[in-house]
Amino acid sequence: MTPATFWRWRRVRRDLARRAALSGRLMGKPRHPVLVGLERGARGRCPHCGQGRLFRAYLKIIPICPVCGHDNGQYPAADSPPYFTILIVGHLVVVPMLAFRFILIWPAGVLLAIVLPVVATLTLTLLPIVKGAVVGVLWALGRPTDS
Ligand SMILES: [Zn+2]
Repeated sequence: MTPATFWRWRRVRRDLARRAALSGRLMGKPRHPVLVGLERGARGRCPHCGQGRLFRAYLKIIPICPVCGHDNGQYPAADSPPYFTILIVGHLVVVPMLAFRFILIWPAGVLLAIVLPVVATLTLTLLPIVKGAVVGVLWALGRPTDS
């Protein structure tokens, strides 16, 4: 190994170490297991203790867990639950329509009478589950509201 190669190799290695350290600092390590938070939130339970209820109404989060006192109101789910719900429902509805193309030759009224209730039911059923899961993941990642 020539000295020039050695120094170039050493510089590349130092840059990679800096990038790894920087990405670790920026991304952060999850504070808690992500799957645990996701599962607890999807069940509508406090992601911190898994016992207390997460919602007091359809989508209204109880800010302070009645069991453990954890501040669940600090996690900004924002627009991600509707986004993921639409993504899931879209795949559940569009894929069968593409796979079974005879559905598309049905009269529009019949198609809408079947598809619209299915889409509405799936969306309204999945939305609180997905919102809970998002809050659970945010709990695991430790994302406060004002960062
Ligand atoms: Zn709790």
